[in-house]
Amino acid sequence: MNTVTRPRILVVGAGFAGVECVRRLERKLSPDEADVTLVTPFAYQLYLPLLPQVASGVLTPQSIAVSLRRSKKYRTRIIPGGAIGVDLKSKVCVIRTITDQIVNERYDYIVLAPGSITRTFDIPGLTDHAFGMKTLAEAAYVRDHVISQLDLADASQDPEERASRLQFVVVGGGYAGTETAACLQRLTHAAVKRYPRLDPGLIKWHLIDIAPKLMPELGDKLGSSAQEILRRRGIEISLGVSIAKAGPEEVTFTDGRVIPTRTLIWTAGVVASPLIATLDAETVKGRLAVAPEMNLPGDDGVFALGDSAAVPDLAKGDGAMCPPTAQHAMRQGRHVADNVIASLRGGAMRPYVHKDLGLVVDLGGTDAVSKPLGIELRGLPAQAVARGYHWSALRTNVAKTRVMTNWLLNAVAGDDFVRTGFQARKAARLKDFEYTDAYLTPEQVRAHAEGTARLE
Ligand SMILES: Cc1cc2nc3c(=O)[nH]c(=O)nc-3n(C[C@H](O)[C@H](O)[C@H](O)COP(=O)(O)OP(=O)(O)OC[C@H]3O[C@@H](n4cnc5c(N)ncnc54)[C@H](O)[C@@H]3O)c2cc1C
Repeated sequence: MNTVTRPRILVVGAGFAGVECVRRLERKLSPDEADVTLVTPFAYQLYLPLLPQVASGVLTPQSIAVSLRRSKKYRTRIIPGGAIGVDLKSKVCVIRTITDQIVNERYDYIVLAPGSITRTFDIPGLTDHAFGMKTLAEAAYVRDHVISQLDLADASQDPEERASRLQFVVVGGGYAGTETAACLQRLTHAAVKRYPRLDPGLIKWHLIDIAPKLMPELGDKLGSSAQEILRRRGIEISLGVSIAKAGPEEVTFTDGRVIPTRTLIWTAGVVASPLIATLDAETVKGRLAVAPEMNLPGDDGVFALGDSAAVPDLAKGDGAMCPPTAQHAMRQGRHVADNVIASLRGGAMRPYVHKDLGLVVDLGGTDAVSKPLGIELRGLPAQAVARGYHWSALRTNVAKTRVMTNWLLNAVAGDDFVRTGFQARKAARLKDFEYTDAYLTPEQVRAHAEGTARLE
């Protein structure tokens, strides 16, 4: 069979957007209509909204890592690696494989869905001392780190060291930061009962945000309920405040307070994957500017979606762009597949329109706030909606079973406080987890792409 004549569709990123797109392409295209290839560093799709529950040990890491190879029907060729540059002119994607080889992949259609990375600012010490909450490895690492602070504080004879190990700072009052602070606070609160030498009063969690409100999307009433729940649990919330400086043993807030701590978790927003900058194309706040059909105007066969693209939010209007949420990314994935197929078959592409369904925020245990379809819920009903929503959004039955079993086990047997010791002696930083330094400059991409052209 001659494979060269078939159009080549290359999907970059196996997250919410990329996987939905690939699965739809597999279902709707016959194998001889096009070759589908997926570039992804990992062999799973990560269900990010449940990451704080991995950090707190309610869920095992494997339960939210949904396999890309569960079914024999999956026929997409998977390249294990990350795209480090795209040359739109020669239609070449430069890939660094997981064994550090650089390979060039030609395409006729490219779907860019590499998601986002943690947004950082030029704050002294931040990138050297903060942990993110964006990858599975980060969640597992943070969990180990937090438990090791309890172990080390317990063993220490020095009151100052104890105090600094038992204070924790989370920056970012969006759902990611709020859920992370809430879930980890619950973990330390439960764990301290197993450390009779530790004074529970010394454990202190801070949640700070430069904005005047936590999760403004929730609205005033529900937002205040979330704050009330967290404050009742002893989490100190500081709004209108950020970090001025971060060091190995203390963090300075912009209001002048110096907090002795060895744990700074930074979840203050996301920016598009650095891959987008390698295209040298128009961006909106770092996200690739695309048409409502999610294609790049003026460049045939280039599509982008999810957290890495500025997709116009037609349901909202007024020039708004879709927020970086899983809710949009999944739907955009299916929609972009239809548009790729339409473009391949000479049909008409359709603009993407989706009205937000609301927000669910799981604060651990029976604490939650949710706003499905504008209805404000608190406590158990909110928790049922939050968990029910996430559970049904998990893509495979195996993942659903793993997550449900973990939730039941946690409800019956409580938390566990095992520290695995992975990477314990090597400080890990944001860039180590998110590979932000792996990308090429647009000039380097062009040089690589020209290299292929000469070889062929
Ligand atoms: C802690 C947390 C909680 C959240 N909670 C919610 C929530 O409750 N509700 C909600 O709607 N959203 C939530 N979100 C946001 C949501 O997870 C994202 O908006 C969504 O994952 C975006 O989907 P995506 O496909 O664009 O990117 P992702 O799902 O991040 O997928 C990107 C994929 O691309 C891969 N990749 C990255 N770079 C490259 C590269 N160079 N080459 C190849 N592959 C690459 C990554 O490994 C990943 O697999 C949360 C996010 C976080 C971090």
